[in-house]
Amino acid sequence: MDALTLYTRNPAETIELGRSVGECVQTSDVLLLTGELGAGKTCLSGGVAAGLGLGPEVVVTSPTYNLMLAYAGGRLELYHFDLYRLESAEQLYDLDFFAYAGVMSQGVALVEWGDKFAEVVAAADLELRLTVVGDDTRRIELRALRQRGEELAREVFARYMRARADYADE
Ligand code: ADP
Ligand code: MG
Repeated sequence: MDALTLYTRNPAETIELGRSVGECVQTSDVLLLTGELGAGKTCLSGGVAAGLGLGPEVVVTSPTYNLMLAYAGGRLELYHFDLYRLESAEQLYDLDFFAYAGVMSQGVALVEWGDKFAEVVAAADLELRLTVVGDDTRRIELRALRQRGEELAREVFARYMRARADYADE
């Protein structure tokens, strides 16, 4: 399947896309968020948290210094990784990455900078690739990395388009 491509025109739309993701994901899904610094990966993660029902009090901040932050209390647990500072794939074991990404996981793993490591890409279902195309415009490609990712990409795309149509009507 080719990538499904969409554009967001401001951070609120990126959060809305994340909300759609959070409403569609299932236990043990693994999503890569790729794109340069400032592309909107952490912004999108905040939307995912909201879509999981973690509540507006959960402000997802980039776990750059922690490498992983876990959030409980939503429909599923959220494991938010930021591998920007990770130097070697061996350190993924220190983080328990493969447990959080595996079939026994209790939640969904969102991984910023996961494309640095082939081991992470191999564990992922779907890549959300963000590209800055203007001050406030981002191109976001949904790229399935395995079969589950194709199903998830279609569901997320459809749900987001419906959400946008709803607020265009208001
Ligand atoms: P990353 O985690 O990819 O480094 P962040 O989500 O931390 O990026 O930051 C994205 C920045 O870009 C924020 O300052 C946000 O306000 C800004 N921004 C502008 N337009 C958008 C958009 N359409 N989607 C997401 N962020 C946007
Ligand atoms: Mg970030």
